[in-house]
Amino acid sequence: PVTINFKNDKERVGVAIMGGTFDPVHNGHLRTAVEILDRYGFRELKLIPCFQPVHKSAPSVTAKQRLDMVNMAVSGDSRLVVDDSEIKRAGPSYTIDTLHAIRDDVGVDEPLIMVLGMDSFLSLPTWHNWQDLIQYAHIFVVSRPGWEPDLISELNTFCENYRAASPLELQCAPSGLVWLETLTPLGISSSMIRSLCRKQSSIAYLLPEPVQAYIEKNQLYR
Ligand code: ATP
Ligand code: MG
Repeated sequence: PVTINFKNDKERVGVAIMGGTFDPVHNGHLRTAVEILDRYGFRELKLIPCFQPVHKSAPSVTAKQRLDMVNMAVSGDSRLVVDDSEIKRAGPSYTIDTLHAIRDDVGVDEPLIMVLGMDSFLSLPTWHNWQDLIQYAHIFVVSRPGWEPDLISELNTFCENYRAASPLELQCAPSGLVWLETLTPLGISSSMIRSLCRKQSSIAYLLPEPVQAYIEKNQLYR
């Protein structure tokens, strides 16, 4: 049994965190972020572009270009905050290091909510020190087309020990819970956008217009 004890029910609690390569950022990332903020009223959602992804090949454009695009994408919503700490830190971007730094920053009591698409969640056991991640943050798994729930069976044992009874429970503890959430399905990926660019096909409506214009102006992903 959980009592939700907001100091003031208008007060927003918790910091959501979405890491990624953002090569480039797209509406799948952004729609996921705003739906989570609207549904659960977390204080903010940090988008954290990695410097060097640990489990995939090097990004197609520079870290500065990926960061510029994320900055352009969030300009309309003050709850979306771009965090360049992985890029500043350079080297391989281990999530455990990032969570450690954010935890130091926000203090021991603030709920941290690490958002992972279903594909990322399924790859979790390959991440550096993955079993420690939950000590620093809750794990908030979002649905992603192509990665349907029957695939999560392998991780059910992991979830069983940690599963939250309700997403609001995430605001009552600083870390330690897993929540699976179904959002509006958007079959958009950065790989798909890069592939369209290579074919010189349109990428309109898959990502914010300023990001599209930046890609076209700089002839990225050709
Ligand atoms: P790539 O195709 O290069 O892997 P991507 O579209 O998967 O790119 P990432 O930067 O790898 O984008 O993803 C960052 C995070 O956002 C991951 O947790 C991923 O699961 C999630 N995510 C990306 N696209 C979507 C989407 N369309 N719906 C839900 N979650 C998504
Ligand atoms: Mg990906």
